[in-house]
Amino acid sequence: MNHEAPVPPLQESQHTPCSHCGAGVMHLRHITYFTWLGGELITVPDFPAWICDVCGRREYDERAITWLTMLLNPEAGHAARRVKRTPRPAPPKGTHPSPPLE
Ligand SMILES: [Zn+2]
Repeated sequence: MNHEAPVPPLQESQHTPCSHCGAGVMHLRHITYFTWLGGELITVPDFPAWICDVCGRREYDERAITWLTMLLNPEAGHAARRVKRTPRPAPPKGTHPSPPLE
């Protein structure tokens, strides 16, 4: 079974002007969100973000941030974890010289 916490639905129904440059419009995009948690780099794929089409300013949806915070909170035991932790590089395997077969 694959239980995933649903990302809060977002609607691009309104044109939010960019608060940074004032000329652009924020568009809803799905990006990979990076954050640090206890010294671990957490990556969240398909994270909703508002990105300005002029200056490229990135703002995250408040509900999505709340959802992510709840997801990453160890005390929120009921929340399904969908985050992907950065895998550690596998240690190099020792070489086993094979004896010649007779
Ligand atoms: Zn802008």
